Amino acid sequence: MNIELPRGVQDILPEDIPYWHLVENTARKLFESYNYEEIRTPIFEYTELFRKGTGETTDIVMKEMYTFTDKKGRSLTLRPEGTPGVIRAFLTNKIYNQKPVCKVYYIGPMFRYERPQAGRYRQFHQLGIEVLGRKDPYIDFEVIKLAVDLLKNLKLENLEVEINSLGCIKCRPNYREALINYFRKYEDQFSPIDKERLERNPLRLLDSKDEKLIALKDQAPQPIDYLCDECKIHFEKLQKYLSLDNIKYKLSPKLVRGLDYYTKTVFEITTTTLGSQNAVVGGGRYDNLVETYGGPSIPGLGFALGIERLIILLKQQNHISLPYIPLIFITLSEDYVEAGIKLAKILRTKYRVDMGSPQENLRTQLKWADRLGSDIVIFLTEEIVKNKLKIKNFKTGEEKYTDLNLNTILEDIETML
Ligand code: AMP
Repeated sequence: MNIELPRGVQDILPEDIPYWHLVENTARKLFESYNYEEIRTPIFEYTELFRKGTGETTDIVMKEMYTFTDKKGRSLTLRPEGTPGVIRAFLTNKIYNQKPVCKVYYIGPMFRYERPQAGRYRQFHQLGIEVLGRKDPYIDFEVIKLAVDLLKNLKLENLEVEINSLGCIKCRPNYREALINYFRKYEDQFSPIDKERLERNPLRLLDSKDEKLIALKDQAPQPIDYLCDECKIHFEKLQKYLSLDNIKYKLSPKLVRGLDYYTKTVFEITTTTLGSQNAVVGGGRYDNLVETYGGPSIPGLGFALGIERLIILLKQQNHISLPYIPLIFITLSEDYVEAGIKLAKILRTKYRVDMGSPQENLRTQLKWADRLGSDIVIFLTEEIVKNKLKIKNFKTGEEKYTDLNLNTILEDIETML
């Protein structure tokens, strides 16, 4: 029997949950203030969705998908990223008929069969946004700004925004040709996978992790030099808006990202404090993806942020304050269960409340209170017949008797905390 944790996945234990809540709540609040709504799509989809969207020649599709056949012989895949599922939902539910623009966000697990290391897992969580139906550069700015603001709201530092433009279906063919001409000279040094990429999708070579290609990449033609007028203006406008809003960015002419569907803007937010897995956010525009899936011609864009990496960063920067609700422990004896239940009900409107077992003696209950890390312990003992209750601050040892009156109890707890 193997009940070990599978490689590359991890438990998120209660002690870490406050970080998760902080990230999720901060994101929800920010996204909703920009009129984004939440969407929840399935964890698995037909494999075809990712092959067609994420791209046949990407590392994700070629090497990293958790694909399985169901009992009817259908090929299904645990989602390696969020965008294809959101577009599928947009088409399945014909959301484009209901709204001129669809702005959504999602939070959930993704799955990639990658070599695990710090900041890289086989099940990880992404938080992302997608906008469908806007082609103007202002919205590229908004999407980048939302990623930046989310990190800012979480008080993260040492971050760099990198942007690039990959052009559109009009200018991409010229760039593609230039890339093929350049890489063709070195083809005999390529791995079989990269040889295939040279033929089918040379842009992917810029994303290769092969040492030789990383070296060759420096001299390779850059997409930015092949942009058509429309793409150039779009990219300039985006930069103008970023500057207007004082968002610092760096032009990264070699940034292509690991997914196939990008057109025009791509961006990443990286940090200097995460070692090799330094990308926290990645995103960009995908003006042809909806059409690739057989839908109408609707442009789109979005980003995805890795929650685990973000939490590693939050923990490194320990000035972050997590919300804390004090824990009140009520010791119980058989005679005062009813009083205990009533008292706990009121206290729970403000505090976390845990109760002892009326079957255990006071000593045992106090040991529990101690091990639970209680801030305050309330003693429901025979003193109650005198309408008195003992309250003790378990951290400082301070204690007092208070009247059995709910307002007085609440006041006394407040002053003792
Ligand atoms: P991508 O979908 O590859 O553009 O990734 C977007 C973000 O998701 C990255 O910047 C990371 O923060 C995060 N991410 C991607 N792959 C992993 C992984 N295997 N483990 C943890 N986080 C990941």
